Amino acid sequence: MLDIEKLVGTSCRLCPRNCKTNRNIETGLCKTNNKIEIASFNLHFGEEPPISGNYGSGTVFFAGCNMACVFCQNYPISQLKSAYKTIDEYALADIFLELQNRKAHNINLVTPSHFVHLICKSIEIARQKGFNIPVCYNTSSYDKVEVIEYLNDYVDIYLADLKYADDELSYKYSGVSDYFKVATRAIIKMQETKGPLILKNNLAIKGLIIRHLVLPNNIENSKKVLDWIVDNIDKPTISLMRQYFPAYKASLYPELSKKLNNSQWNNILDYAYKLGIDGYFQVA
Ligand code: SF4
Repeated sequence: MLDIEKLVGTSCRLCPRNCKTNRNIETGLCKTNNKIEIASFNLHFGEEPPISGNYGSGTVFFAGCNMACVFCQNYPISQLKSAYKTIDEYALADIFLELQNRKAHNINLVTPSHFVHLICKSIEIARQKGFNIPVCYNTSSYDKVEVIEYLNDYVDIYLADLKYADDELSYKYSGVSDYFKVATRAIIKMQETKGPLILKNNLAIKGLIIRHLVLPNNIENSKKVLDWIVDNIDKPTISLMRQYFPAYKASLYPELSKKLNNSQWNNILDYAYKLGIDGYFQVA
């Protein structure tokens, strides 16, 4: 069994950045130290239908991120950390229980990778107090395989991005040159441990949804992402997202400086239909 605390220790290697920061005294490339930082929590109704359901997904937004996407739509939280609160594992457990009491269908951990060792402790504490709704791990997929294996006892549903199938793009836009290799290994492990998406009464209870945000003027990348999914994942559920808008540093990249147009979206939709893809296609 992985000793996840040891992976953080005084030389953090919790995520694939392996930046070896002593998080007891400084912040790593994820911009966080060894204390949980949350920006907000609430019921969220904008996720895929089996995640949001009628009563909402109990979403917790963590501050910081182990990637640095130039177009990040959550950049005030993930990159600038303009407003956040530091809490301990017990307080996070209480948040899980509060959201459960408010009838959340699940707990939705948004950008959890750099806090995963602490989040698991909170899940354990909350379970001792009656926490029993599914846990969603909402990730860029820039996660280590051994961490995904460790999460098997804690996570029920993966909401896993597959952003790029091209290392040049991942380096240019997100500052990591090994994204495709790392993310695809992580997604394969997610599939191996949780299997395809399972619904009960139209709500997700277990499994994997792979999300892909279609970037303007990068349609070939999106097609390669879809190709990889259909070639490698059994019965995939894909969520194709067209919600891109130029945020954060996107205006510095001319190709990213506008929203996705209809013709590019239709192009990728046609491609998805041709591949026989099943899933969720975001309405503009
Ligand atoms: S979790 Fe943060 S500190 Fe740890 S390796 Fe990743 S980026 Fe570095």
